[in-house]
Amino acid sequence: MTTPIQLNFNSNWTYAPAPETVPVQIEDRYNLFIGGQFIEPKSGKYFQTTNPATLETIAEVAQADESDVDAAVQAARNAYENAWSKLPPKERGKYLYRIARIIQERAREFAVIESMDGGKPIRESRDVDIPLVAAHFFYYAGWADKLQYAFPGTTPRAIGVAGQVIPWNFPLLMAAWKIAPALACGNTVVIKPAETTPLTAMKLAEVLRDAELPPGVVNIVTGAGATGAAVVNHPGVDKVAFTGSTEVGKLILKSIAGSNKKYTMELGGKAANIVFEDAPIDQAVEGIINGIFFNQGHVCCAGSRLFVQESIADQLTRKLQDRMQTLIVGDPLDKNTDIGAINSKEQLDRIESYLKVGEQEGATLWQSQCSVPDKGYFCRPTLFLNTAQSHRVVQEEIFGPVLAVQTFRTVDEAVKKANNTPYGLSGGVWTDKGSKIFKVTNKIRAGVLWANTYNKFDPTSPFGGYKESGMGREGGLHGLGEYVSLN
Ligand code: NDP
Repeated sequence: MTTPIQLNFNSNWTYAPAPETVPVQIEDRYNLFIGGQFIEPKSGKYFQTTNPATLETIAEVAQADESDVDAAVQAARNAYENAWSKLPPKERGKYLYRIARIIQERAREFAVIESMDGGKPIRESRDVDIPLVAAHFFYYAGWADKLQYAFPGTTPRAIGVAGQVIPWNFPLLMAAWKIAPALACGNTVVIKPAETTPLTAMKLAEVLRDAELPPGVVNIVTGAGATGAAVVNHPGVDKVAFTGSTEVGKLILKSIAGSNKKYTMELGGKAANIVFEDAPIDQAVEGIINGIFFNQGHVCCAGSRLFVQESIADQLTRKLQDRMQTLIVGDPLDKNTDIGAINSKEQLDRIESYLKVGEQEGATLWQSQCSVPDKGYFCRPTLFLNTAQSHRVVQEEIFGPVLAVQTFRTVDEAVKKANNTPYGLSGGVWTDKGSKIFKVTNKIRAGVLWANTYNKFDPTSPFGGYKESGMGREGGLHGLGEYVSLN
């Protein structure tokens, strides 16, 4: 028997800094984008948006109140009735192609601003978020004049004005998921970005203006939760599209009940990532890392519950810990960084409170020994070992770089444990056997399931959940169907 080689991950194997240097233009102050104009909020109030890695204020952003939202909905209604719904579908498609191309041209600038405002590593905003934003506009541009083929035997019609509220974890990508299909189908939009990440939405407003999109087709109102509530509750809104927490999703559903508004809800998750003993282990380790540490774990479909077959649990845990020791936590604008800044103080507090809860419940906390910047909001990649199904860190969405690890012996046990959650958004299965993939994925109640990979997104593929993860789908043909009336 050979002696295993001991790797010292605390060695001085460091990378030279590789800061992103593309210059970006950020105004001191951003106004609301209503009716194709940048206008001051009626209240005259602004809030600050901060870089979570440096704690520096980046810009001031307008705080829209009900009267501003009302103006935005009126602008959207006007554009819907007098311009957008009257355009030949092919012309709508041309605008969407134009928007997609301008985003591609300015991709690096968008990536830098996304990382500055939200804390995500530049590698992810550059290689994942922004390319997917352009891809969504391209994809739905193609459908604009083909709706009758998308829904054969029907007469697809636009719904009207869509009120859209998005979160802070994928700011521009969530905007693209919502705006592109809405516009392709002939609807107009009032969208509210999250309070902590409004900047790329305001940059998108510049793109829309440069693309000469007719005024009022897309209106962007910035603000906090109250602004979002004003958007979804406005009687002039025909369709509500929300991505965010299950808690707020429930509030919105209550408030629009009986209103005849159409809706889609993309809410939280607590996905099971299941590794069987016949899986390619090193590949699975990479998938586990990508599943939970991508975007600091601020991902609704994050693989935050790991289930490992007992026979390989020790080996896999050791490999996982070794790999976690190599992850670089730090400056989001450094191209070497794997895990950037936690989006806000509020979210860091929430994650840290779960770290305490997990230990109090009896789970074993393990963190990588990586260095963490003194300033800014950062969290080391974390494992909870020896967890039980009843632990809060297993049941509740933490939305941070924290992975709860459990073991199982049989396929049925894995499926039962995976389904023991109020959520049903996503999951992953790692095995060498195709038959096992089909058996397990058919039994897991989740909207998106990956096999031998994780966190892969494509505009052609529908995304959405069951149970407390929401209802309706975004992306693909299913996502298009949420923005048309077929009767
Ligand atoms: P929220 O649900 O609080 O926020 C999502 C969006 O809704 C934001 O734009 C928010 O505004 C807005 N909002 C807040 N309250 C209301 C309301 N009453 N009516 C209408 N809109 C409202 O999520 P958070 O951003 O606070 O994130 C907290 C948790 O949400 C996470 O820990 C995670 O569990 C979940 N989450 C899930 C996501 C997913 O993709 N499924 C994405 C992001 C979060 P503002 O930001 O200004 O408060």
